[in-house]
Amino acid sequence: MAGKLIILSGPSGTGKSTISRKILEMDEFNLSFSISACSRKIREGEIEGKDYYFLTIDSFKSKIEDNEFLEWEEVYPNQYYGTLKIEVERLKSMGKNIIFDVDVNGAMSIKRRYKEESVTIFIQPPSLDTLEQRLRSRKSETEETIAKRLRKVNMENTYARKFDHVIINENLDDAVKKAADIVRDFLIQ
Ligand code: 5GP
Repeated sequence: MAGKLIILSGPSGTGKSTISRKILEMDEFNLSFSISACSRKIREGEIEGKDYYFLTIDSFKSKIEDNEFLEWEEVYPNQYYGTLKIEVERLKSMGKNIIFDVDVNGAMSIKRRYKEESVTIFIQPPSLDTLEQRLRSRKSETEETIAKRLRKVNMENTYARKFDHVIINENLDDAVKKAADIVRDFLIQ
């Protein structure tokens, strides 16, 4: 069981990255995290080459030109995020299954490319209010970035039905358990 792709997506603040971290900690899955490239500023506590490959906009755009991305999106105005082909090859060559934390469009693109080898999971917030509270409790967000993220939620929610699975993250432990069950079922197929 190697080379399979688990694609997590959903609005910002739904707990996607916490869920992916917890799944990664479970040894049974032989999983590694796909480190994306992005053009936003590094946040306090983040590590270059672990959380993201942080690039300038110019260098991100030159990688687009050079066709180095499996997928990329301007997730927020002037903030680019993308999966480098070489990252997926690196993890596959290590014999790993791969977990992705990408936006809804990125999830659809990866699924199109790796149909049978991938499963898509949409993490949904229980409500808009909860989401707003979660974003506010992240001290790293400014009013502007919170507003930017909330504006996208309705669009993102319309994508839910295109995913193989939807998990409503009301309670983190339950959501992690549901995600782990989906991953387990998918990896033994
Ligand atoms: P954040 O700035 O909070 O780290 O991430 C913002 C959004 O970008 C999240 O929804 C995250 O899933 C998405 N994202 C992160 N990496 C990628 C990527 O490689 N491709 C795409 N399409 N979206 C990504």
